[in-house]
Amino acid sequence: MVKVNENYTRLPGSYLFSTIGKKVTAYKAENPDKKVISLGIGDVTQPLVPAVIKALHAAVDEMGNAETFKGYSPDGGYEFLRKAIKEKDYGARGVDIGLDEIFVSDGAKSDSSNIQELFANNCRIAVCDPVYPVYIDSNAMAGRAGYYDKASGKWTDVIYMPCTAENDFVPAFPETVPDIIYLCLPNNPTGTTLPKNELQKWVDYANENKIVIIYDAAYEAYISEENVAHSIYECDGAKECAIELRSFSKNAGFTGTRLGFTVVPKDLVVDGVSLNGMWARRQGSKFNGAPYIVQRAGEAVYSDEAKRETAEQVAYYMRNAKIIREGLANAGFTVYGGVNAPYIWLKTPDELTSWEFFDKLLHEADIVGTPGSGFGPSGEGYFRLTAFGKYEDTLEAVKRFEKLR
Ligand SMILES: *Cc1c(COP(=O)(O)O)cnc(C)c1O
Repeated sequence: MVKVNENYTRLPGSYLFSTIGKKVTAYKAENPDKKVISLGIGDVTQPLVPAVIKALHAAVDEMGNAETFKGYSPDGGYEFLRKAIKEKDYGARGVDIGLDEIFVSDGAKSDSSNIQELFANNCRIAVCDPVYPVYIDSNAMAGRAGYYDKASGKWTDVIYMPCTAENDFVPAFPETVPDIIYLCLPNNPTGTTLPKNELQKWVDYANENKIVIIYDAAYEAYISEENVAHSIYECDGAKECAIELRSFSKNAGFTGTRLGFTVVPKDLVVDGVSLNGMWARRQGSKFNGAPYIVQRAGEAVYSDEAKRETAEQVAYYMRNAKIIREGLANAGFTVYGGVNAPYIWLKTPDELTSWEFFDKLLHEADIVGTPGSGFGPSGEGYFRLTAFGKYEDTLEAVKRFEKLR
């Protein structure tokens, strides 16, 4: 008789955004005259830039012509895109990545959840706490996380590395050495990041312990400080221990267009097996490539024209981030992040829990944010605001925060 994958039955409900949605809908229904501003969304709002739209149109026309029509994409993605990635993302930063070390995909969410398939089922994973939930959920579905303990908000077999104001959001090496470490830098949700010398310590730790780092660099485009690495491969020895995930979602607004890539260096060998070969095999069997049209759009992102246009969008969001960060600090809030990432992480005032502050903010200021506890137990007492909103709304929201104190 058929049985289900029991690992799925162990997953707690994904209540965070549905609970937020319900509360906001109820509040709006009761207060139809109030203008509710959302600083809760983790999605971009600015449209695709003109240089990308032009490339999309041109590629659509190619698809309608027998001479230029394209079917299945080559394994790993079209060479025109992988070349642009190799030169512009890595070569320009002094990092030499081979074309056959780049695997184009439909985004970093799928890659970050699929990559765990390469590892044994008894490998222990370590994650920062708070964390982007995909890393844990994908391992839980594969049976690598143990059981979810409701009281602690933790999975029994996952190693949590708290990132709080107490350690300046720099995780300490865990007491138990894990096999796989997920690092997302700059970080969602805290908006903080590590300077390159701190990241180098993690690379050294991974090499000394023969473990693998899965490095999510989705927010790379938001880095503004000089001492922050844009790629983990800027650190010595990273090619022997790290897989890097990248996305076009946050730097070029591809959240609905879908494009990303993963770098698996050939020097990354585990148990005498090349992870590069394994990932090529995995993608070859389970993935049929990102659309030609979208890969052309991705190539266009690297053109000088699009670089200028997307840099303007990132600057637009980061102006919002600065307004929130400085406005809230002036209003007496303790704030973190927002310098190298489009997220501001704030300490809830007056010892309120994350959800208590959510309710207060909604009811007294008509603002929606995201409770920090939704990202992990160490997020309790914190709150996430995003810079992806409209400039005018962001200004208005900050004014309301001032009145709140
Ligand atoms: C938005 C985001 C991504 C990007 O996901 P896509 O599937 O490429 O849209 C990856 N990691 C984190 C932490 C994110 O917040």
